[in-house]
Amino acid sequence: MRLHIEVTGVVQGVGFRPTVWRLARELSLAGFVRNSTAGVEIEVEGERAGEFVDALRAAPPPLARISGLDSREIPEQGTADFVILPSREAGASTDCSPDIATCPDCLRELVDPTNRRFGYPFINCTNCGPRYSITLRVPYDRPQTTMAPFTFCAACEREYRDPADRRFHAQPNACAACGPTVSFHRGIAVADGRDARGHDALRLATELLGSGGVLALKGLGGYQLACNALDAAAVGALRERKRRSNKAFALMAADVETVRRFAAVTAEEEALLVSPERPIVLLARDATAALPAAVAPAAADLGFMLPNTALHQLLFRGTPPLAVLVMTSGNVADEPIVKDAPTARRVLAPFADGFLDHDREIFMRVDDSVVRRLAGRTLSIRRARGFVPAAIALPGSGPAVLGCGAEVKNTFALTTPGAAVVSQHIGDLENLETLAFFQETLENLKAVYRVSPVAIAHDLHPGYFSTRWALEQTGVEHWGVQHHWAHVASVLAETGLAGPVIGVALDGSGYGTDGTVWGGEFLVANALSCERAASFRQVPLPGGEGAIRNPWRMALSFLAGSGGALPESRAVQALLRRVGETEAATVLAVRENRTLSPLTSSAGRLFEAAAALAGLCDRNTFEGEAAMRLEAAAGGHLGAPYAFATATDALPRLDFSPSFSGLLDDLEHGKTAGFVAARFHATVAAAVVDQVGRLRAVTGIRDVALSGGVFQNKLLLTAVTQGIEARGLHVHINTRVPCNDGGISLGQAYLLRERLRT
Ligand code: ZN
Ligand code: ZN
Ligand code: FE
Repeated sequence: MRLHIEVTGVVQGVGFRPTVWRLARELSLAGFVRNSTAGVEIEVEGERAGEFVDALRAAPPPLARISGLDSREIPEQGTADFVILPSREAGASTDCSPDIATCPDCLRELVDPTNRRFGYPFINCTNCGPRYSITLRVPYDRPQTTMAPFTFCAACEREYRDPADRRFHAQPNACAACGPTVSFHRGIAVADGRDARGHDALRLATELLGSGGVLALKGLGGYQLACNALDAAAVGALRERKRRSNKAFALMAADVETVRRFAAVTAEEEALLVSPERPIVLLARDATAALPAAVAPAAADLGFMLPNTALHQLLFRGTPPLAVLVMTSGNVADEPIVKDAPTARRVLAPFADGFLDHDREIFMRVDDSVVRRLAGRTLSIRRARGFVPAAIALPGSGPAVLGCGAEVKNTFALTTPGAAVVSQHIGDLENLETLAFFQETLENLKAVYRVSPVAIAHDLHPGYFSTRWALEQTGVEHWGVQHHWAHVASVLAETGLAGPVIGVALDGSGYGTDGTVWGGEFLVANALSCERAASFRQVPLPGGEGAIRNPWRMALSFLAGSGGALPESRAVQALLRRVGETEAATVLAVRENRTLSPLTSSAGRLFEAAAALAGLCDRNTFEGEAAMRLEAAAGGHLGAPYAFATATDALPRLDFSPSFSGLLDDLEHGKTAGFVAARFHATVAAAVVDQVGRLRAVTGIRDVALSGGVFQNKLLLTAVTQGIEARGLHVHINTRVPCNDGGISLGQAYLLRERLRT
């Protein structure tokens, strides 16, 4: 007798297949077991096949939850052995798991001098270790990973073959005798036989860090640059060498107790820090903690993570032990993270005093992920290591489509029949290296999930690389999706909400259907249609893109009256002194030229203008710096809102001119930047809530979706959410993908799929 059995429920990643294997052997059955899209698929053949089903029902593995078990008889095949097969069907999230941080069992072995893997940086087991970053193609099986060149030693092979072992079918299983090795060297020559290896390499690396050097380290998904975060000279040198503007460095600490010395950590944040995804968690900085200013010059939050691999764990175990390391991506400017030693030698040499390499190839580069807790939810800021390529379920079944994303913080999204697979953070599509990264990752994920998109959704912006790329693809349908509709749709895709919703999309800029630059938008939208219902008032973006790097130009643009007249104000005088009268006059003249200065309803520019007037930031050294400084200045408080108005032309337009008058008045009366920052946040929140209330009155819609990068502002998101909920409406936000442009691809793919589905 041969039975075909399908088991559904929580049956993957819980030791189900080894249990089935053992049971089949006990009953002298032939056949196979493998993971499938639905769960686990089994075939058993032999005289006692009937007993098998009852026995499995009676004693499944402890963590398994069987929700369905169907069996039917099929023709015998005369096979003799029972085997565990790799998973077969496309679409299963198990086809390629995200990378998983070192588990507690492996950590215990790592620090146990009696264990054969004591101090071995590549220790892993079935419950942890590299996955996505080393997988060349599916099925996920050692020969299809970058572990292929390493041949098992007898001990490792025994573990791998033994269903009773924690390392049964752990594809990257390895030890110091047979697996990857670390090597350390100074200078730029590629590793050779004279380099220190193994324990010596680790000792030299930790000594380098301890003595204030910068280490280029081959991490899980790419190179990282590390230095002792408590050594001001080391951090200063790294910032100097990276010319990293004022953007905060990410930090890695040995344990949660150490993190608490520098930042407040709630129970939920602690759970995130120690989670298998092991992301960077943004935490409220303890202002009293001694941390070199160069770590995070502009930020009220610190981004902390715990070691995600054994190699990182070992960096904290030198003598004397280091407590906190700066751990920043090993890349040049806006290029992708470096993943191989020759490139690292070439491009990271100016930053690093030494290199800690290893000989396990990184196939898919994947940066560290960034999350934050807010209002009882975990929000994604950058989605990469640990989260990608886990699928995001979509309603029903639909065709395979591609959302190719936006320009900055690009990701793309591919759909399988029932889900979306969103790529890791690719970066800003503005150099050849990043474009190559986009294409290589796309080809890889298409292969991994065996999907071939029948249509591509792209942004309406004709200048985006992603748009131009999409239009070059032949043999597929193309569809342009308005940027802010895609933002709102990303919330629909994540939440399963059908809509219509009142969508509030606040961001820096996105191409509008009228060819102007949108960014403070109120939409009435569902999966099939979108109507712009209101926006922020439009102002000229003086000199176009250049205004984005220069908040002071936006301040002048918001304030200028007819003929470029500026209000009498000490704050304005101070700003003119800082930037120069001549420069300012030029900007005011350019402002009147609609070709050089397109109109924008951007919410991002509004915050930047306020920051410049408050004297907090005239020039952005990184995207969003001025707004971040304004939020930091508010110190988590809201003040009394300033006045605002609603003008109406074709649409209701929120007009913040009265708010700027109030802000200047406060500054005139000696109020601090923090005071006006708190009032300004309250103002924008009140105006948004007010407009949502009006749209609710007109449409009767009670569901509100908030998205767009401006909602990364905690103070604003909290105030808007509370204000809307206080009116009895429901607020929906992004949690699994970022609300910034990293979430655009999911919205695009969702909308296109819905369009083709109906
Ligand atoms: Zn493990
Ligand atoms: Zn071994
Ligand atoms: Fe956007």
